Amino acid sequence: MDKDSIKESIKYELLYTFAKDIGQATTEELYMAFALTVRNEIMKKWANTKKIMESGEYKTLYYLSIEFLTGKFWGNNIINIDDIEIYKQVCNELGIPFSQLEEYENEPGIGNGGLGRLAAAFMESLTTLNLPAYGCGIRYEYGLFNQKIINGYQIEHADNWLSDRNVWEVECKDEIVEVKFGGNIIETWEDGRLKIDYRNYYSIYAIPYDIPVVGYDSDIVNTLRLWSAKSYNDINMDWFNRGNYLKASEEKVLAESISKVLYPEDNNPDGKRLRLKQQYFFVSATIQNIIKKSKGKFPLWALSDNVVIHINDTHPALAIPELMRILMDEEGMGWDEAWNITTKTCAYTNHTIMGEALEKWPIDLFKEVLPRIYMIIKEINDRQLHRLNREGTNDWEKIDKMTIIAYDQIRMANLCLEGCYSINGVSKLHTDILKKEVFSDFYAIFPHKFHSVTNGITYRRWLMHANPGLSDLITDAIGTRWKYDSHELEGLHKFSEDSAFRDSFSDVKRYNKQKLAKYISDKTGIHVDPESIFDVQIKRIHEYKRQFLNVLNILYMYDLLLENPSRDIHPRTFIFAGKAAPGYYRAKLIIKLINSIANRINGDIRLNNKLKVVFLENYNVTLAEKIIPAAEISEQISTAGMEASGTGNMKLMLNGALTLGTLDGANVEIKEAVGDQNIFIFGLTADQVENYHKYGGYNSKAIYDNDANVKKVVNQLVNGFLSPENSMMFRSLYNYLLYEEGGITDRYMILKDFDSYRHVHSIVDDQYKMPDIWWKKAILNVAGAGRFSSDESIKNYNSDIWHLSKMGD
Ligand SMILES: *Cc1c(COP(=O)(O)O)cnc(C)c1O
Repeated sequence: MDKDSIKESIKYELLYTFAKDIGQATTEELYMAFALTVRNEIMKKWANTKKIMESGEYKTLYYLSIEFLTGKFWGNNIINIDDIEIYKQVCNELGIPFSQLEEYENEPGIGNGGLGRLAAAFMESLTTLNLPAYGCGIRYEYGLFNQKIINGYQIEHADNWLSDRNVWEVECKDEIVEVKFGGNIIETWEDGRLKIDYRNYYSIYAIPYDIPVVGYDSDIVNTLRLWSAKSYNDINMDWFNRGNYLKASEEKVLAESISKVLYPEDNNPDGKRLRLKQQYFFVSATIQNIIKKSKGKFPLWALSDNVVIHINDTHPALAIPELMRILMDEEGMGWDEAWNITTKTCAYTNHTIMGEALEKWPIDLFKEVLPRIYMIIKEINDRQLHRLNREGTNDWEKIDKMTIIAYDQIRMANLCLEGCYSINGVSKLHTDILKKEVFSDFYAIFPHKFHSVTNGITYRRWLMHANPGLSDLITDAIGTRWKYDSHELEGLHKFSEDSAFRDSFSDVKRYNKQKLAKYISDKTGIHVDPESIFDVQIKRIHEYKRQFLNVLNILYMYDLLLENPSRDIHPRTFIFAGKAAPGYYRAKLIIKLINSIANRINGDIRLNNKLKVVFLENYNVTLAEKIIPAAEISEQISTAGMEASGTGNMKLMLNGALTLGTLDGANVEIKEAVGDQNIFIFGLTADQVENYHKYGGYNSKAIYDNDANVKKVVNQLVNGFLSPENSMMFRSLYNYLLYEEGGITDRYMILKDFDSYRHVHSIVDDQYKMPDIWWKKAILNVAGAGRFSSDESIKNYNSDIWHLSKMGD
């Protein structure tokens, strides 16, 4: 669209939706008019894509994920239809700040962190690559809570993101599906076949809401389909007529609670009944929808030639028994035929190896909520046992690890390994650990099922949208081809030697830092020096991610400065952001700890502004887009072996921050991509951590006793230094470091890695004092980031696992 047609459209939408002209319109109305204008540009392609997909001509991917952390739609969609300059001009000419419209949109917070963000990036890349796909998930009415920091503590507020009209979704009432829960199963034999009679169940409707997924300069528009729960009996008239109004609406409230709110646990399932219902709800709706669309287009025995069902972590693993159920109970197939189809259609991505993060469901709960699905899982389990016996496996330890049902629990990862044709890890290291340790027994039997696909990020959102200054600088240097092929960023290599380019590069960074400094001052009142090093750790607050280690080093730097205030260090600003699960006590205490240190340090004039600590509240995609372009150090300091991939690390590298991290997840590949000179690596390796864990840990008390600086820092947790009002406040963190807990002391190896960590921080300080060297390294990080585009991940998924054809080819 050209400028004039955009203006026309905006006037039209304002007039015919709100009966106003531009001068009268509120920000909300202006946003709506602009959003509808962009949406109109998308609609024709979307309708066309849907039509082609319905023809059944193309094999289609269904990407099932319990979270999609999309970020805001409007600005990114404009980038992707390549109209950003025009829209900015229109805003200018109409005197409406573009940023004000962007700010107005609510971010759909329907994901916790990396897993949900990955699903959203994959949908965008699939579309960019013209591959036909549906993203399938839940339309949570309330997303992840909004975080406020009050008195240093995290306070949670409900995220009512749908309170305003959501112009990006379309309700598809004609594709409503019935999902059944509870009840009991009567089995009878009829003509030699088992007949399943499902009685006394209760039904809930699933209504799909479709959101267009716009790719960069793409021929197609894919669909993100989110299911919303609706009561079967909107109001139970029986009760209503008897005058019991409350009882009458109770059923409705209970039914609709299924899609009411996103569970806020990241990497820590909590086995709640409602969560199980959520999982079955969106999986059953999706699989029923797939089968319905398939019939008439191709015979169901050919399902795997036409459909891939991808299971993003184990949350949608019920796709396996649900597909079995439909093929057998509704389509009349026998077990073997149904199993053959299912195991050729479903593929699974594992996202974690931490035992406590692997999903398990108590049998009793499961049987009650999903009696038929339980029977099918039991049968899969029994057949697996038979097979293992037939194959002569009598190693009981091995069988014990592989079975799906054990110790009165259903182990969802094992269900996926049995029922999928593919399982992949999300970085090289992570896949190696899956093969060698967590799933080694499965790997011995099904080596062909294992793949490795490293996670990725979308360059449209994290560079073109979030950092237009850097994006333009890159284009000036190497042209626009990098926008289509991320490997073209390699072309920046030679510019790392070009001092004029280095100056422009550092100018962009300085500008972004000034902008963030202003944001920090507006939000927190803290004044940070834009010339200081912006050292950033932004991610969910979790023990394995070790924000605690970062804090201990800040305390250490603080102590050194107090000893000698004229110590020659480059000023440093530590920036944190992240949410803790509301029930995760220790993670919340770490937030309080960060804020206590911030309070103490920011107010200490003896430091001459050499150290500042900032905690920005309510980390989400929108906040990440503000922080990342200004970052110079990217803290990726998880205990080695525990972060499956990480994607925050990739976003920061792409924006010219240097990684300071352990050899964990994708950090290993970042090191390969940039070379040892351009990354700061410290700490134990995954093998070393694994070894310590095998032999009961290490002696943290010895480190504490033998290093006066460590002792001082650790003691400051409990001597009132940080919390004069209550010196006991951080006692449990102190105890964690020095005393045994569940058979091990300091499970996350914080004191063990401390020395190496503070050492690498001093190297950072030395190198920042040499700007030529620093900016060269930063540029080489951008140049090496090409392989971490989600386009690359999707190409690998497609060639190794999915085998889809491009639409139009
Ligand atoms: C990228 C991203 C994450 C994942 O960050 P990690 O550092 O990989 O844990 C989490 N939350 C948001 C909002 C993100 O954008």
